[in-house]
Amino acid sequence: MTFKAEYIWIDGTEPTAKLRSKTKILADGDSRTELPVWGFDGSSTNQAEGHASDRVLKPVFVCPDPIRGGADLLVLCEVLNTDLTPHSSNTRAALAEVAERFAGQEPVFGIEQEYTFFEGERPLGFPVGGFPAPQGGYYCGVGADEIHGRAVVEAHLENCLTAGLGISGINAEVMPGQWEFQVGPLAPLEVSDQLWVARWLLYRTAEDFKVSATLDPKPVKGDWNGAGAHTNFSTRAMREGYEAIVTACESLGEGSKPLDHVKHYGAGIDDRLTGLHETAPWNEYSYGVSDRGASVRIPWQVEQDGKGYIEDRRPNANVDPYVVTRLLVDTCCTALEK
Ligand code: ADP
Ligand code: MN
Ligand code: MN
Ligand code: MN
Ligand code: MN
Repeated sequence: MTFKAEYIWIDGTEPTAKLRSKTKILADGDSRTELPVWGFDGSSTNQAEGHASDRVLKPVFVCPDPIRGGADLLVLCEVLNTDLTPHSSNTRAALAEVAERFAGQEPVFGIEQEYTFFEGERPLGFPVGGFPAPQGGYYCGVGADEIHGRAVVEAHLENCLTAGLGISGINAEVMPGQWEFQVGPLAPLEVSDQLWVARWLLYRTAEDFKVSATLDPKPVKGDWNGAGAHTNFSTRAMREGYEAIVTACESLGEGSKPLDHVKHYGAGIDDRLTGLHETAPWNEYSYGVSDRGASVRIPWQVEQDGKGYIEDRRPNANVDPYVVTRLLVDTCCTALEK
C-alpha cells in the first residue's frame, strides 16, 4: 500500500506569490513525520532560469489531507536552492530567525483572512452586467438575498478543522461574496504556515464548486470594501499589562517604521488604505481604542481589562504572513526589550 503527500509551496510570482502543489506517492513504511525533500522545475514558477532550473522543496509543516482523507497528507514546504540555502522567494527562513531571537517574549498572532469568491469575471452574488444593492446588509448576514457561497465556506471550514488547523472563526463580510476566516492565536511560524495551508484549502475546496477565491485587496473598485488581513498581535508582557500595549503601538509609529511596514503589507496597499471603508490612509500612522479608522486598533475590551493584544488593520488580504509577522515581532519586541 501507498499514501499520497501533497507537497505545497509558495512560488515566485510578482508582485504577489501564488501557491503551487504536486503529489508524491510514498510507501506505507515511509515516515509520516520526517518527509523527504523533493524537487521541482523552478523555471515554471518564476524561481529559476531554464538552464539551471532545479529547486528543492523542504517539508516544514505536515497535516492530514482532508480532501483525500485516509492516510494522505498535506506537506507545506520551504523553497531552497540546490546548495540548500533559502531561495530568494523564501520569506519563511527570515521569519524563523526573528521568531527564534524573540521567542522569550512569547509573541502570538491571530490573522483575519478576508477573501472574495468569483464566478467567472463576477464576484459571487453580483448580477450579470450590474451591481447588487449597496453595502449594509451583507456583513454577518443570513438569507439567499444576502449570502453567496456559504456551502463553500462551510466545506472549507470543515476541511481546515479536519486538517487540524487552528481556525478561530468565520464570518460573512461587508461586500456580497466576501468572507473571512481567522487563524490563531498561534506563534509566528505556526500561524503563518497554517494560514498558507488554509489558503490552499480555500482554493482547492472552492475548485470543486467551480468557484474561484481571490485575495485581491480591492476586487471591486468604487464604494465597496476592500479585503484585508487584520493582524492581531501580543507578547506575554502585552497579555499581562497595558504599558506594553502602548509601547507596542508607539513603536509602530516611530521614524520610518510606518512606511517600512506598509510597503511590505501586500501589493496594491494604497488602493485599499484610502481612509475610507474602515481604513486609515496608508501614509498616516495612528492608533486608538476601538477605532476602526486607525492604523492600529486597541480593542475596547483590552483597554477595559488593561491587557491583551493590538490589531494592525493595515495588512492587505494578499499579505505574506511570514513578512507581516516578522515585521511586527521585530519592531514591537525590539521596543519591548528595552
Ligand atoms: P474583529 O473584531 O477585528 O473582527 P476577529 O474576532 O475577527 O476580530 O479576530 C480576532 C483575532 O484575534 C482572532 O483570530 C483571535 O484568535 C485573535 N486573538 C485573540 N486574542 C489574542 C491575543 N492575545 N494575541 C493575539 N491574537 C489574539
Ligand atoms: Mn515534468
Ligand atoms: Mn474579523
Ligand atoms: Mn473583517
Ligand atoms: Mn479585525
